[in-house]
Formats: sequence, structure tokens, C-alpha cells
Amino acid sequence: MPEGHTVHRLAAAFEQAFSGQRVRTSSPQGRFSDATQLNGMVLLGAEAVGKHLFLPFAPAEDVERDAPVVRHVHIHLGLYGSWTFAGEPGFSDAHAIGAPRLRIGEREERLDSEEQDGGGATDWRRLVPRPTVRLRIAGPTGLADLTGPTACEIMDAHERQAVLDRLGPDPLRADADPSRFVDAVRRSRTTIGALLMNQKIVAGIGNIYRAELLFRARLDPFVPGKDLSTGMLEEMWEDLVALMTYGARTGRIVTTQPEHRDLEPRIIERSRGTRQNGDEDPDVVSRERSFYVYHRQTLPCRLCGTTVRSAELAARTVFWCSRCQSVRSRRAGWTREHPAAPWALEAEGADVLAAGDGAA
Ligand SMILES: [Zn+2]
Repeated sequence: MPEGHTVHRLAAAFEQAFSGQRVRTSSPQGRFSDATQLNGMVLLGAEAVGKHLFLPFAPAEDVERDAPVVRHVHIHLGLYGSWTFAGEPGFSDAHAIGAPRLRIGEREERLDSEEQDGGGATDWRRLVPRPTVRLRIAGPTGLADLTGPTACEIMDAHERQAVLDRLGPDPLRADADPSRFVDAVRRSRTTIGALLMNQKIVAGIGNIYRAELLFRARLDPFVPGKDLSTGMLEEMWEDLVALMTYGARTGRIVTTQPEHRDLEPRIIERSRGTRQNGDEDPDVVSRERSFYVYHRQTLPCRLCGTTVRSAELAARTVFWCSRCQSVRSRRAGWTREHPAAPWALEAEGADVLAAGDGAA
């Protein structure tokens, strides 16, 4: 399932590709018949909240997004949903940064405008949607096809707000209130490992961020939320903001400090099927070096060499190092051993650090 940073990247892709444009909408699959209601309307932009994407449609470009006339398409990709973008040169940038769980076959669908002499602008218009496309949005310069979502429905402003009200704060949103996260955790007897997966507690975290955040906090996944101090949880939130901001910027989850990535160079880690929809950056940290514990069960911990463990927690597998993650209560020696950002030693991260996430 795409984690929140991917949905925020999708929202940015929609903003870039369609914002303020009059679009055609259809449901080739037929399962979103309400698509006809939106046909010919203006797509005002896009909004991400946790793993939820909202696309606001209005009769005209100058309508405020919170106006009653706006129709919000609510989309949750779930486990199998994906977006595929195609369009004119320039528009295709969106293709590269969107589409969680993009499959190779879908990539081949994108026609190369170079193939036609001067006729490149019309290539994407001839793309016949697959019969599984739930929603196609086509603008003047490109299109987006949605397949396999868990939710794709039209909402009014009240229904949209009801979805937002059910969600905890989203670390990637400027309007997020971290105290809601801290208070909700401290009120609960549930384990922190389960709470982090509860979208009512914090919106946007998936299984990778859960495992890695707990490791970076040196926190035992099975500690009850009520045992944690406000200070610990505030620092976890800050770490989460830094990690997810990096993810939203690059499309990749990287949580390891540079000095920890090659501690066990003799270990050849198997690729365990973690797909990330990142920019095609040759300098990107490889998947095998990106995580401390996620899918590293049976391998030695990068810090202490103890075998990383795994267990079911909140219906998903959690991964942890029982030696490093020994913090169990507010009274335990909580020291910030790690800089806040995994790219702290990388020059490219300087702008993020300067924004005040408090590295080191
Ligand atoms: Zn360890």
C-alpha cells in the first residue's frame, strides 16, 4: 500500500498536470458511473490527507475550493490502486513521479512522442484505456488513468470534512497539529507499534515508516502508548516529518544514516519486493541500504549485529532489533542518539535541514 508520501506526490502531480484546466472524465470500466457528472468541469487542483486523495471539480476556474458547488472526488488507492499518466512532453514529468505500484506493462503504454514526426502532441490522445480503468481524466495536454482503487467516489464538502475528521494529523500537512498525535498515543493502552498504523492516530504512515521510525527512536514496538512521554512522542513526530518530507521530495523512503549503510557490506540482501516510486536518480540510495529493519528479518542489525526480528502487529509484520530497541518507558534513558534526518551528511539535504527540522 502506498504510504502518505506517495499520495502527496500524486497530489503534486495533479496540481502540476491539471490544476485550473477543464477536463473530460469517464469510467471505461463502468464502475464509476458518476464520472459523467464531472465531465467538462474544471479540476481545481488536488489535496492529499494521509493516504487519501481529493480532486476538487468545479464549474469554473475561479470557484473557491470550499464552495458548496465543488464536487470532491475521494480516492483511496488501497493495496492495488495506481495512477498512470501520459501526455505531451513536459506533462510526462507527472508520469515519473506518480503512479504508485506502477507496473512495467503500464510503463510500456506510454507512447513515445519521438516516434511521430511533429505529431507528438496527439500521441497520448489515442491511448485506448484498459478495460480496468475506473476513472480517466483527460486535459488539454495529457491524461491520468486510475485502476484498482479501494475508493473512488464523489463527495460534497460535508462528506469530505467527515473523512478528514476521522483522520489523525498528517505529518506532511502544514496544518497538522502534533499534539493530537501525542495526546491520542498517551491516552491509549494499545502498543505504539499498533497505534502508528492507526490512521485515526496519525495519517499517512504505513508499514515501512512504522518499523523504521520505531528503530530510529530505539523504541520497543510492544510498549503501550500510555507509557511514553510527551517529549519522546514529540521527537518521534519531528523525525516522522523529516523522513516523510524526504520521501515526498524524492519518492523514496530512506531512513538510514549514511555511516550505517555499509556496515555489513558482505551481506548480499535479497530484493524482497519493496517497490518505491522514486525519481530516476542514479545517486539514489539503493533499497538494500535504505532501511534499518524493514524486511531485514534474519539479517544482522546495522548497529549492533543482533538478528532483526519480525512478528505480526496490527495485522502487518513489524520488524525490530530487540537489542537496539530497548526503550520501554518514559523513565528509560531517552537520548537522541540520531540526527533527525537520514540525509544529514548529504549536501542535497541542506535545504531541508535549513527549514528547521533540528538535525543533530
Ligand atoms: Zn541492533
